[in-house]
Amino acid sequence: MRHDSSVLQCVEAFKSIPEQSIAALDAVRGNGGIVAGVYCIYAPSELIRATGAVPVGLCGKKQAPIEAAERELPAAFCPLVKSSYGYAVTDTCPFFGLSDVLVAETTCDGKKKMYELMARLKPLHVMQLPHTQGGEEPRRYWEASLHALEEFLVANGAYPADEESLAREIALHNRMRAKLAAVLRLGADPRSPLGGLDLLAVQESKGFLVDIEGYVELLARLEAALESWLAGPDGAPHPGPRLLLTGVPVGKGSEKAVRIAEELGARVVFMENCSGVKALDIPVDEAMSPYEALAARYLAIPCSCMSPNPGRRKSLAELGRAFRVDGVVDLTWLGCHTYNAESRQVQRWVEEDLGLPLLHLETDYSDADAEQLRTRIEAYLELIR
Ligand code: SF4
Ligand code: SF4
Repeated sequence: MRHDSSVLQCVEAFKSIPEQSIAALDAVRGNGGIVAGVYCIYAPSELIRATGAVPVGLCGKKQAPIEAAERELPAAFCPLVKSSYGYAVTDTCPFFGLSDVLVAETTCDGKKKMYELMARLKPLHVMQLPHTQGGEEPRRYWEASLHALEEFLVANGAYPADEESLAREIALHNRMRAKLAAVLRLGADPRSPLGGLDLLAVQESKGFLVDIEGYVELLARLEAALESWLAGPDGAPHPGPRLLLTGVPVGKGSEKAVRIAEELGARVVFMENCSGVKALDIPVDEAMSPYEALAARYLAIPCSCMSPNPGRRKSLAELGRAFRVDGVVDLTWLGCHTYNAESRQVQRWVEEDLGLPLLHLETDYSDADAEQLRTRIEAYLELIR
């Protein structure tokens, strides 16, 4: 009998990426390069890399630093904002320590007021994100914001992006996003040995990359291992309900809802959030001028901070149908007004487009409500089974 060991070995390799990145980022700085800490997928990674800087994700996903953050921030802020700030003020995140500069976007009120405080700690550039996607004006504005970001990076030790390096980074990021999307699609097969927590490790590691080519190679290895497993006779379909997770980003430390759902026998097959597949299907148009194409691509990201946010409905409908999910879970962090408010619309979209009921969960990073969540998820699984 064959084993799924080659698939699981690959997943272990993804789990080790954040740890390995610490040494790699240290080496970047040792060689005179700069590291740019980023907090959101609106940060244009291609441009940052084309200036010779290396972006690294700093989003706080753990409860531990929140207490320190609450000495300065309102307790009612979302845990992601508080955890990110807590890591910064306590200097307990190695990636924050390794960041020479910070790149921030005004996606929501909590983040934008938090960045005002964080700017005391390191050089920080705020990109004022337009909160609407329609028409030429927001795109032109965002294009100008890309140039302003480049000027900030150059003033802090990076170099101006040339056409060749921009084109190379755009092509590489397009390739990386397409390969990751292909792997996640295979992972959603009913016979895949990968659960939601495995998918999380694969997805989350993309925020810590120094060597993108190496990541693409690892994705190709996982793709080949999954294809071989799925072509063989041993993979039995997972018996539990198949869930699509949407809403706020999750990661190691904030994966409570995914863990509980899978402990109750469900399988989270796809995460339509920005730590998952959100915007992986939006490439940068390589035929356009690079700044224009980058501005268009990044502004099209369907986050709830956009008004309106039609891309989320489209993406939920496509993923829900393509992967024949049995249920949709909409996760909102307490204190996140945009995701919370949008959940009423998401419920309608999921009912109209997929004919499914929605489970809306509002929670934070603590375990205080774990039993309450378990009861609600259990009742939902009973409903859709
Ligand atoms: S949910 Fe939206 S604002 Fe928050 S990190 Fe993701 S893309 Fe950025
Ligand atoms: S989850 Fe909501 S409130 Fe928290 S950082 Fe993201 S958009 Fe802002």
